[in-house]
Amino acid sequence: MISSDPCHPPQVSCGQSQQPRKQCPLTWFDNMIQNCLQYARQQKAKGRPIVGITCEYTPRELIMAAGAVPVCLCGGSAETIPAAEEDLPANLCPLIKSTYGYHKLRSNPFLEMADLLVVETTCDGKKKMYELLGLSHKMHVLELPQKPDESNAMQHWISQLRALKKRLESEFDVTISDQRLRETIGLMNRERSLRRRLAQMMQQDHPPLTGRQLLQLKSSISCIPEDLEMYQQTIEMLEATRPAGCDSKVRVLMTGVPMVHGAERVLEIIESHGGLVVCMENCTGLKPIYEDVDHDMQDPILALAEKYLHIPCSVMTINTRRMDLLKDWAKRYRAQCIIELIWQACLTYDVESYFVRQVAQSLGLPYLRIETDYSPSDSARIALRVEALFETVRNRTATRT
Ligand code: SF4
Ligand code: SF4
Repeated sequence: MISSDPCHPPQVSCGQSQQPRKQCPLTWFDNMIQNCLQYARQQKAKGRPIVGITCEYTPRELIMAAGAVPVCLCGGSAETIPAAEEDLPANLCPLIKSTYGYHKLRSNPFLEMADLLVVETTCDGKKKMYELLGLSHKMHVLELPQKPDESNAMQHWISQLRALKKRLESEFDVTISDQRLRETIGLMNRERSLRRRLAQMMQQDHPPLTGRQLLQLKSSISCIPEDLEMYQQTIEMLEATRPAGCDSKVRVLMTGVPMVHGAERVLEIIESHGGLVVCMENCTGLKPIYEDVDHDMQDPILALAEKYLHIPCSVMTINTRRMDLLKDWAKRYRAQCIIELIWQACLTYDVESYFVRQVAQSLGLPYLRIETDYSPSDSARIALRVEALFETVRNRTATRT
């Protein structure tokens, strides 16, 4: 047994683990981009096409079944934003601008090597940015229905996935068999299940990771064999830990927009000012992995359609599923407060924050909404607001005990 201390992260050092390991499973993901780049180049050299994606509604299983490598292109860098603003309005979400800025600067090697982009009609900003990106990149746009509980929405989404299958087949001159699709569904289910197990460890009284460490445990390319092995090793290593208690940390449920690679600043502020993010509801957390694809359904396209249309993103109307999950996860992870992150000009998450605040009220949890972009200029102000929130939580706890 090794012990870990959430008060002083990092708590887990591979040097302490019971079995000698070739590579520390935690530090493996520190080099995630380099690992992905090496993998993408190797696969491309072997003739596998690269397909860029930008949203969790994209069924990676279909792309993988076509023999291609799906790579997430979402930008988390502030540095590419000025270039994007030459074409896009300044008053647009930083995630959209950063992603597009990489294209303008030709500085995202994954985008440069992509043979096709698969994107969806989600928020207006993304949808319109794709039109510009599509001027110089081959692109397939999935039309995502936005009233997910209507029966014709599912029919439409199924037809969109069938159209994507056809496009991939003709683009890459392959046939996607049901059997091959089931294999990739099995692979993605395995990855989701490993990542879920890691996330569920945060339900413990004394979680073995910080939220920042957990956020690091993911990859821009799904199902790289070494990544799957490292998830497994991380689980085994953490199961062999005996985390030390740290009751002074405030347990936080984070919700809202995705915190893509490079855009983790707010999470870092929360955890360096007395918080421990035990649950991330967003698209870089539990939202895309809480459900699997039904591996045994007769038509695998139907199985994919059901899983993906269930993703409770704020682009959907009405998005009650997200509120139900928030209530459930706040209880399971014993959150003491809810912090919602909203990228500036993200209208869908911003408006939906009205309902998230109601959820927090119904649970009796303090709630903080943080609207920001990728610039660190407001970090001190955010830190002050986070500290005030934690003070409220501690006062409430003291009053109850
Ligand atoms: S938040 Fe919505 S639009 Fe963004 S990646 Fe997730 S599902 Fe896609
Ligand atoms: S954060 Fe909001 S505005 Fe930005 S891409 Fe996602 S849904 Fe669109």
